[in-house]
Amino acid sequence: MNCCNVCAGALGEPVYRSAGDRSFTTMNTPVGGRTEVHFCARCGHLQTSELPDLAHYYAKVYEINLASAEADQLYQIVDGQPVYRADHQARVLRAKVEFPPGCRVLDYGCAQAATLRKVVATSPEIRPFLFDVTDKYVGYWERFPVPTQWATHQVDPAWAAGMDVVLSFFAFEHIAGLERALADIKALLKPGGTFYLVVPNVLGNAADFIVADHVNHFTPASMRYLLAANGFDAVEVDDEAHDAALVATARLAAAPVPRPPLPDAVELGALAASARQMSAYWNEASARIRAFEADGDGPCAIYGAGFYGNFIAASLASPERVDCFVDRNTHLHGQACWGRPVVAPDGLPENVRRVLVGVNPRAARGAIEAVEAWRGRGISFFYL
Ligand SMILES: [Zn+2]
Repeated sequence: MNCCNVCAGALGEPVYRSAGDRSFTTMNTPVGGRTEVHFCARCGHLQTSELPDLAHYYAKVYEINLASAEADQLYQIVDGQPVYRADHQARVLRAKVEFPPGCRVLDYGCAQAATLRKVVATSPEIRPFLFDVTDKYVGYWERFPVPTQWATHQVDPAWAAGMDVVLSFFAFEHIAGLERALADIKALLKPGGTFYLVVPNVLGNAADFIVADHVNHFTPASMRYLLAANGFDAVEVDDEAHDAALVATARLAAAPVPRPPLPDAVELGALAASARQMSAYWNEASARIRAFEADGDGPCAIYGAGFYGNFIAASLASPERVDCFVDRNTHLHGQACWGRPVVAPDGLPENVRRVLVGVNPRAARGAIEAVEAWRGRGISFFYL
């Protein structure tokens, strides 16, 4: 029986099942198997069944931004300028957590620890600790702006109950054993210490609903319940500070915390309706892409070389008609996606008059309106 990772309740039939025997991941790598998403009617959590090929995927493919510490992911375009994710994360973290001089801050599962690196650059009185399950980031840690302590594979036993703050950026969506993971975090925190975590917000980015390597799709309701049910108090879950993410802060309670109430029926009903909407959206997306494709000829381009752009490419009947991918992330320019170059908007060839827009649908129209170079060119756009 399938049980909810958050509340351990039994899960019924999936709310979504992918059409083909191929699933997509956050690294835009297809993996075998059908994606099934369940909605937990007790706590409002969304959960994807783990695919058998996922262990291989993590071992071989999952290397976010390993190419360079600067190859950060694009967060937003603000006034025409790209803002990268680590910069925004550092800003939000500083606004939400106080760092008294000498405080001990552990970035748990940190990869390059890009966010903490930015925070200590302006607050050198923080004592940073770094941990990841692999050694492949040690080279970055050695070049941190202040002295650090780090551990790989296992945390240093000397760190137990010694951290003022533990940080986790975009990790808990991958972890099926949440209770165990939280027990590990709690063992590292001082009583009253702060756990700060950031995870994708499925309600703010439909892509998160179907990526096969995210076993958890937290909602504000399921995140609040998870933290309160695992010994934290002063739980706050913010769905506005970071676009398409939930930013949660919680304090390790000094005394046992009573089991929290489950979310109320009104909140659960609204979440169930959102889950059904996302399911319908993805069930129809491929057919809509192919209808646009069939409705014109000549070369086309895909705007966005991330998850949505790759989903579009995989859905096309004739992907060879794609001339190029267009992306605002300057770190991607000169690279290839599906064997096609990734170019800046003003690099779109004159003869390309059809553009399929592959970015978060909530931001897609604004993103295209902001491309001055394309105004008045008679381009037909497809929006997911
Ligand atoms: Zn649940």
